[in-house]
Amino acid sequence: MDFRKQFAVSPGKKLKLAAIDPSQSGGHLSNEAAQPEISKYVTRMAELQALLYANADQSLLVVLQALDAAGKDGVVRHLFSGMNPQGTSVFGFKQPSASEAAHDFLWRAHQRTPAKGEVVVFNRSYYEDVLVVRVHELVPKAVWSKRFDLINDFEKLLTQNGTRILKFFLHISPEEQLERFKQRLDDPARNWKISESDYSERELWPKYTEAYEDALEKTSTAHAPWYVIPANHKWFRNLAASQIIAETMEDMKLKLPPTRVDLEEVRRKYHAAAAAQEKQNGKG
Ligand code: ATP
Ligand code: MG
Repeated sequence: MDFRKQFAVSPGKKLKLAAIDPSQSGGHLSNEAAQPEISKYVTRMAELQALLYANADQSLLVVLQALDAAGKDGVVRHLFSGMNPQGTSVFGFKQPSASEAAHDFLWRAHQRTPAKGEVVVFNRSYYEDVLVVRVHELVPKAVWSKRFDLINDFEKLLTQNGTRILKFFLHISPEEQLERFKQRLDDPARNWKISESDYSERELWPKYTEAYEDALEKTSTAHAPWYVIPANHKWFRNLAASQIIAETMEDMKLKLPPTRVDLEEVRRKYHAAAAAQEKQNGKG
């Protein structure tokens, strides 16, 4: 199944999240059945990341957005497990620090965008500035509503500089979120993940839905598409996200970098060194 086609948000078309079933699994039956396919994509992503790093002429930015407990951390853990930590990084967007808040909303993001050769994951992102900021009315509408165009321009700038941008909204149901909150409450190892604000934010679900629908619709572009990933099943979320990332990286046409030295010359040096070493060994 082509998840890129299936889950991409069409630019400029009205998005209704309620019409997308968060429990769907694309005809895949179970976690066990999906595992070989997930492994295949995760392995391929790792191979392609090595090529991206070696070439250092393009980069990849993956933006993860979702409500609490939808699995952003899980996606980071699972999908990037195969990649080399050298050349990859994850940045989590928290409430802006005083210094960050004193700058424009894209400032802190721009400093963390991937350099050539790198893969960067944004766990939350500058999209918070049209989501939480909008829902909580942290700035007036006149301010946040202008940000969609600014984001599109910002992403165009990154794209023109060789960055591929992929954006995932992890879509869960309120029931599934509550179930996950319960697991965090029942499992001492997960207690640290609980926050009281999770419950007050949950009450704002309709407002968040409206904000997400608006943001995804206005900022899904050909060069920086949004994908709505059904995420009630963690394994299906991982399958869909890994396929989309792997196939996007295939599209980047990454190849082994050209050899920068005269191989014949280096071979001569090698043979000379090997002969000298042999002579040395013979003496000893
Ligand atoms: P989890 O989903 O696992 O709880 P998290 O991403 O929510 O992880 P937290 O430290 O709990 O991590 O929350 C970070 C908080 O920072 C979020 O509530 C987010 O909405 C908020 N935040 C991020 N960017 C901004 C921003 N620009 N303005 C205001 N709040 C922001
Ligand atoms: Mg949280």
